[in-house]
Amino acid sequence: MVRAIIWDYDGTLGYREGGMWVATTLEVIHEEDPASPLTEDDVRARLRGIFPWDRPDEPHPHLSTPEAWWAAQVDLFTDILGDLGYYDGRARRMAERIRTVYLRPDAWRLYPEVLDTLDALSARGWQHYVLSNHLPELGEFVERLGLAPRLSGLVNSAEVGYEKPHPEIYRRMLEMIGPAETIWMVGDNPVADVAGAEAVGIPAILVRTRHEGVRYRCDDLSGVPAIVEG
Ligand SMILES: [Mg+2]
Repeated sequence: MVRAIIWDYDGTLGYREGGMWVATTLEVIHEEDPASPLTEDDVRARLRGIFPWDRPDEPHPHLSTPEAWWAAQVDLFTDILGDLGYYDGRARRMAERIRTVYLRPDAWRLYPEVLDTLDALSARGWQHYVLSNHLPELGEFVERLGLAPRLSGLVNSAEVGYEKPHPEIYRRMLEMIGPAETIWMVGDNPVADVAGAEAVGIPAILVRTRHEGVRYRCDDLSGVPAIVEG
């Protein structure tokens, strides 16, 4: 019988070197306008709520191609940059540049213990799945970082149109896994990963962060085998 672990991606298996959206947006603003007084806090306030995973109760199957996903996101960045005073096509050019910089391939990394931990678990019969609120390009990152051959499957919110903790994205994941003896979820987000999994009956381990009231947690992935093997 199948024993499966569902891994969150960002903040669990991998990260983006140099920061994520706030840092990338500020980097592009400073490229265009080195004298800009904007700070990370200013940019963070502007970006709040603009990503699909900020609105998990709003399914978005209409954005399930990379073109549609990015067109919607670039429009939102363009509006924000326009509000910040970048006019006459500058805002749109900068918004496109955010996309290019964000996707810079060498920025996407795995945490150091990830491959060894997955391999040790595979050797004991565990299958690995990824369930992520992410960009359309997640599959490419997973391929490039050597994760793909270790995975039995991946469900990406950008493709299915639901964001964790929406039960539908968990249902899609369970459908992909099929009949199983044991399934665990591992992630760094107490809501999207832990509460979302528990709501559909999957026990969950919180990693790399602390949160009151969570039943299972460990500092990094090397603590996962001891928990799932009880
Ligand atoms: Mg995460």
